[in-house]
Amino acid sequence: MASVHYQLTAQGELQPSDADGELVLCRYCDLLQHLPELKPGEEAHCSQCGHLLDSRHPQPVLRPVLFACSALFMLVLANLFPFISMYAAGSQQQMSFLDTSSVLFAVHHPALAVLVWLFIQAIPAFCMAAVIYLKLGMLWPLPARMWVARVLFMLKPWSMVDIFLIGLLVSFVKLASHGDLALGLSFWAFCLFCLLHLRTFQVIDRREMWSRIAPNPKPSFIALPGHAGLSQQLKVCGCCTALVPLHVTHCNRCGDRVHRRIPASIQKTLALTTAAAILYVPANIYPIMVTVSMGQETQSNILGGIRLLWQEGAYPVAVIIALASVVIPVLKILVLYGLCYLVMQPQTYRQNLSTLIFRWVDWIGRWSMVDVLVVAILAALVRFDLLMSVYPGPAAVTFAAVVILTMLAALSFDPRLLWDSTINPEDVEAIHTMTEQTS
Ligand SMILES: [Zn+2]
Ligand SMILES: [Zn+2]
Repeated sequence: MASVHYQLTAQGELQPSDADGELVLCRYCDLLQHLPELKPGEEAHCSQCGHLLDSRHPQPVLRPVLFACSALFMLVLANLFPFISMYAAGSQQQMSFLDTSSVLFAVHHPALAVLVWLFIQAIPAFCMAAVIYLKLGMLWPLPARMWVARVLFMLKPWSMVDIFLIGLLVSFVKLASHGDLALGLSFWAFCLFCLLHLRTFQVIDRREMWSRIAPNPKPSFIALPGHAGLSQQLKVCGCCTALVPLHVTHCNRCGDRVHRRIPASIQKTLALTTAAAILYVPANIYPIMVTVSMGQETQSNILGGIRLLWQEGAYPVAVIIALASVVIPVLKILVLYGLCYLVMQPQTYRQNLSTLIFRWVDWIGRWSMVDVLVVAILAALVRFDLLMSVYPGPAAVTFAAVVILTMLAALSFDPRLLWDSTINPEDVEAIHTMTEQTS
């Protein structure tokens, strides 16, 4: 059994006594392991659950700054020119990028308007500006970098420009039979913004970014890779990934409060999932979209919208909406209930599979927002008064709440609880004996 012993150097710093690289604790399965020195382009994954632990990218400052600056420039362009125009029955309606939220305000849906604005404008713009700030902070000592880094990784899952792009494609198919569409300069700028925004996040890594802000603190203890962190009185900082001894309450590097496990994780997950499950009923009963055509009002709920798309022959779009609005939310709610049940059992099995399912469901959950964004796009574009106009229905807000609640439920669930029952008390005793002998 290889152990890593941290020693005091002549300069008064604590460093590992062997040169095998850093120790890292997986935040999904709590396995302590060696992190080898990575070369640019290389990635390190957890040997137990496969979670990405660390990655190195070539030109770690220049590339993210260039991508993020270009993305911000494209976002400005996307707000300056016409986004999409629609021609129907001899009249023309033009929509700007900002109309997707401002029109929702005008039709008395302020909550939905704020959400859409946050998801597709404010949060993505903040994230890009934060990346530029943090990367430039590697060259100059800029203030408040820790706060910016903390907020950046907290907001990352709530940036939904990629989902908005899919929402645009779905809207085009829905509108194809009602009029002609012309794509403006801002539409193409938005497509580029979306690509650059995704690329920026691909070329940054949380662990690497934090190590550039402040070096990983070297704790003075003996640790054995290949064993659970909890069995060695260790926990991981959820914010900056630093190792923290169990008795220490706050992270040495980022100052964030570190818990051994997310407090009341199961209770929070169950409460949020149940709230989402309850709201999912009115989200399906009430109309998500109201269409006024030739003075006649038609209300359509989620399932009605899918049925209509299927009858019109738009099969791929019908499948996308069915997956995003029915299959994914229902599956996510069931999986979260199932995981909570598993954790409450005295002994859990197939931890690898459960962790993989949790990671997958956590990743895919945000895509359910596509239907809400489609409603926002149609409401902004289809405004031909009594000839044809689209308004969001009461279910649009309810369904957005379902998606947000399931995302919060997944964030509250601590997957390490699945692995805790695998810790053998005899193993813990053996580790304690060995560390006492080595010290
Ligand atoms: Zn792992
Ligand atoms: Zn930290």
